[in-house]
Amino acid sequence: MLKKFSFIVLILSLILLLSACNNSDDKKAQTNKIKVVVSFNAMKELTYAVGKDKVDIHTIIPEGQEPHEYEPKIKDLASLTDAKLFVYSGMNLEKWSSTAIDSVNNSDLISIDASKGFNPIKTSNGAYDPHVWISLKGAEYQANNIKNALVKIDPKDKSYFEKNYLTFKNQIDALYAEYKTKFANSPKKSFVTGHAAFSYLSRDFNLTQNSVEDVFADGEPSSKKLQELIDYCKKNKVTTIFVEDMVSPKLSNTLATEVHAKVKKIYTIESKEDNLDYIQSMKKNLDNIYNSLQ
Ligand SMILES: [Zn+2]
Repeated sequence: MLKKFSFIVLILSLILLLSACNNSDDKKAQTNKIKVVVSFNAMKELTYAVGKDKVDIHTIIPEGQEPHEYEPKIKDLASLTDAKLFVYSGMNLEKWSSTAIDSVNNSDLISIDASKGFNPIKTSNGAYDPHVWISLKGAEYQANNIKNALVKIDPKDKSYFEKNYLTFKNQIDALYAEYKTKFANSPKKSFVTGHAAFSYLSRDFNLTQNSVEDVFADGEPSSKKLQELIDYCKKNKVTTIFVEDMVSPKLSNTLATEVHAKVKKIYTIESKEDNLDYIQSMKKNLDNIYNSLQ
């Protein structure tokens, strides 16, 4: 009996010892990575594309939350206290970013506005449109800023970050070249979507977006605006209404029914959807927009 007991104790001790070893291995592996905090999903995608195995990424805005109205709570910002890098998209999308940076007492923290220096588009009310990452060129610009920050933090891995950035840039450039030709030859040039998140993408390819909701996804359109959209769609024989998961799909559906158009999903990459990465999401977007313009 005693023997059996000692055997069990021995086994338990071994299990504990092994799991303790595993834990310390985990911790070691984690500390070798640069701890990066990002504001929302698109910044996570771009940071991962450049940082890959050398970064440990924490996202402030949870999955399924749209970033326009999100106000982080104290606990959402805890990851900033021991992070090396904070990446936000900028153009006033994350209005809370400077307060967040000030509130954490972390002198090691480097913070970057990934859009800094990018040629902005102004909205009708004079504010900047923040959706830089939904343009291939915008994402490339942001990824380059992120790459420079990672190199600054960890110069010994400079070639690793540069190689990853170049791979990402090549994918983007190939996609851009392909759709530049395609859109130039499209008979139609405008599309209708849920919220006005596609102005930079439209600028890249000389397209026009129309939307159910405005740039900041704040609130439903008036019945007058909806009627205008219905008239617009009928007049321009719009056959597809794009819909985003997080922005009133009901209204887009209503509009589609009214004008006998089909509904097609479009990705803002503001949250992770269908387990697609940045390039995959954009490829689908461009393909679906292109098909709707034929
Ligand atoms: Zn948006």
